Amino acid sequence: MVFGNFNTNHIVQDVSGGVGGMGVFEECTVSEEFAFGCTGITTVFTSSNLGQTPVIIAGTKEQQKKYLGRLIDEPLVAAYGVTEPGAGSDVAGIKTRAEKKGDEWILNGQKMWITNGGVANWYFVLARTNPDPKCPASKAFTGFIVERDWPGVTPGRKEQNMGQRASDTRGITFEDVRIPKENVLIGEGAGFKIAMGAFDKTRPPVAAGATGLANRALYEATKYSLERKTFGVPIASHQAVAFMLADMAMGVETSRLSWQKAAWLVDHGFKNTVIASVAKCHASEVANKSASDAVQIFGGNGFNTEYPVEKLMRDAKIYQIYEGTSQIQRLIISREILTAAKQQN
Ligand SMILES: Cc1cc2nc3c(=O)[nH]c(=O)nc-3n(C[C@H](O)[C@H](O)[C@H](O)COP(=O)(O)OP(=O)(O)OC[C@H]3O[C@@H](n4cnc5c(N)ncnc54)[C@H](O)[C@@H]3O)c2cc1C
Repeated sequence: MVFGNFNTNHIVQDVSGGVGGMGVFEECTVSEEFAFGCTGITTVFTSSNLGQTPVIIAGTKEQQKKYLGRLIDEPLVAAYGVTEPGAGSDVAGIKTRAEKKGDEWILNGQKMWITNGGVANWYFVLARTNPDPKCPASKAFTGFIVERDWPGVTPGRKEQNMGQRASDTRGITFEDVRIPKENVLIGEGAGFKIAMGAFDKTRPPVAAGATGLANRALYEATKYSLERKTFGVPIASHQAVAFMLADMAMGVETSRLSWQKAAWLVDHGFKNTVIASVAKCHASEVANKSASDAVQIFGGNGFNTEYPVEKLMRDAKIYQIYEGTSQIQRLIISREILTAAKQQN
């Protein structure tokens, strides 16, 4: 598989063999290249990674061997089950609950917009385990590994989304699902921190995916602008068109640099929460602007499904929504800036 000037063959082999021992940086590199081809397919893999990351950062050796191991042995995927019909950005507002009964937990509730919801082998599920509304979020929730085949787990219909239609998005209902205590991550009350902590490792690949989409928009628009003629010259000769290409190129480069910094930091043990949000927010906005400008450069053809850029525009939108909206990224970034400034005063 060759996209642009980058050959992904060796990396794809590593991923399928599961022997790469790769870090976030390598995962981002793969994500960007896959996203050049199709961000719907890319989301299947990056969302499985989102489901796996709580087990990677908080699982015991036994949990990791059992649940990560099976994803290497067979072509299976995982999913991350946090969002609900009534709560997305406000994670602390989730209503799914789990009650301890002897050596088991009984899970009841409903999740929504879960990528890989219908095809995952297992889910990371965040549930409220302390019913006291005064209990702080840092203690009120617990993270569980829940198997798709357990009685009481029912995925809903595949949602018909605007874009990234190759990706399977569903609601999931949990009705009296019995979870053995071995499937609790860390312990009772640790779930919120695990669910939020995963994003430091998973937002850089999302940013990389958005970068791949922006790069595809640039590639298609550049090619078309050299072929299409108006007023006797290729449209690339019109400065207004050429400058749109320049803006896309600036966006691709800065998006790539931002995911690279976020990925490198977390791979080397540094705190990267702010730069991960910067990368995710910036790259998703660049992807949307680039896809929209690519449609503009294609003119009427750009609005039609026979040409590649309308798909890019539909696919781009979700990058500003999932794994925390652009507003939530700005909330995280501004909160960190203000906290640091107050500490200096
Ligand atoms: C295709 C798709 C796949 C997804 N995959 C997954 C998945 O695998 N797992 C999972 O758990 N979730 C998943 N999600 C859910 C996604 O993460 C949420 O949709 C997202 O976090 C926003 O939550 P919400 O939809 O409830 O919007 P809301 O939280 O209701 O927000 C609505 C609007 O208000 C804004 N807003 C909310 N609060 C604030 C604030 N404090 N300040 C400023 N603005 C604010 C938001 O930015 C947004 O514009 C997916 C969603 C989609 C559409």
